[in-house]
Amino acid sequence: MSTVTIAPIAESLPAFLDSYDFSAIAVIADNHTFRYCYPELKTILPKHTLVRIKAGEEQKHIATCELIWDALTRANFDRHALVLNLGGGVIGDMGGFCAATYKRGIAFAQIPTTLLAQVDASVGGKLGIDFRGYKNHIGVFQLPNTVLIDPVFLTTLPERELRSGFAEIIKHCLIADATMWDEIRRRDLDEQDWSTLVAHSVAVKQRVVAEDPTEKGLRKILNFGHTLGHAVETYFLTQPRKRLLHGEAIAVGMVAEAFMAFQKKMIDQDLLTQIEEYIFAVYGNVRLTDEDVEPVLALTLQDKKNRGKEVRMSLLDGPGSCAFDVHVTAAEMRRGLEFYRGLNK
Ligand code: NAD
Ligand code: ZN
Repeated sequence: MSTVTIAPIAESLPAFLDSYDFSAIAVIADNHTFRYCYPELKTILPKHTLVRIKAGEEQKHIATCELIWDALTRANFDRHALVLNLGGGVIGDMGGFCAATYKRGIAFAQIPTTLLAQVDASVGGKLGIDFRGYKNHIGVFQLPNTVLIDPVFLTTLPERELRSGFAEIIKHCLIADATMWDEIRRRDLDEQDWSTLVAHSVAVKQRVVAEDPTEKGLRKILNFGHTLGHAVETYFLTQPRKRLLHGEAIAVGMVAEAFMAFQKKMIDQDLLTQIEEYIFAVYGNVRLTDEDVEPVLALTLQDKKNRGKEVRMSLLDGPGSCAFDVHVTAAEMRRGLEFYRGLNK
């Protein structure tokens, strides 16, 4: 596993740089992290190459990789160079992918600056880019040399992005730690202790990934909320309505999938009510209508059919516990989505 350090970047980055002998350093940032986070690094880094790209998921494609590879090539980076990915999941996934493939792989460190990237994307070694409209279609598994997390970066993050990342923290608590779930659900978003929660979430994800790095089994529990959530996210892309952030869609997925678990008698009414009430308190504005249910379901089934298999999902089987490869039917998924829709009618 990569080491993950949660500390002020002014301490963790020099310590990491001292431990290796790098021939050159590149920082990859987007417009926002250039403005809000790069000043912190600039003062402590030795000579380096800055690669600045536009912000947004639309940039996570092969043409941007070419810009990055071009910059490394122009600066004569050899195989002992280091790439620092300063940004959210987009920069981490794409900058990591570029580093992992440049000259068959050079060192890279993730410096995640969004909550989603700190608690999820920067840990676990999944790297890649979108291709022809398919998310994360091209990529590799490669662990970073280190992950340096500084919670201070979260202070400039827009609240909507913070709330989106919080969905992964909720997920980590629900699948792995009932006590922590009890802690977070008593607090609103603005009352959470991010340093503690980031450390906790990273530990959960690392533990799961360490047991199953390539997602043959246990790692699938990290997909809780994501089967229906991804379908909701994809469906909203086709709608004139406002785009949903990843975590907002996963919040819908977690409620719908919790209902499925309840129907299968895997969790009790009490836990279902806790999940439904808390997620509504935090994300209440995400609405599904009657017309949305069938197309979302179709997306889920399409996705699974492509694999030529029956539909299997990760469903909670108690507070802080999740089962994977649970066989489900389309009718059960429909009831999950209808349950969610019924709540915010
Ligand atoms: P993002 O990288 O687009 O960041 C969201 C927005 O926040 C961007 O506009 C960014 O410029 C801005 N931003 C970043 N840090 C900031 C800061 N400190 N202050 C102000 N603004 C800041 O999106 P994200 O939500 O971090 O990540 C989403 C991506 O992560 C998706 O592409 C998804 O596929 C990927 N992902 C990967 C994994 C994995 O395991 N590799 C897991 C989950 C998600
Ligand atoms: Zn997610």
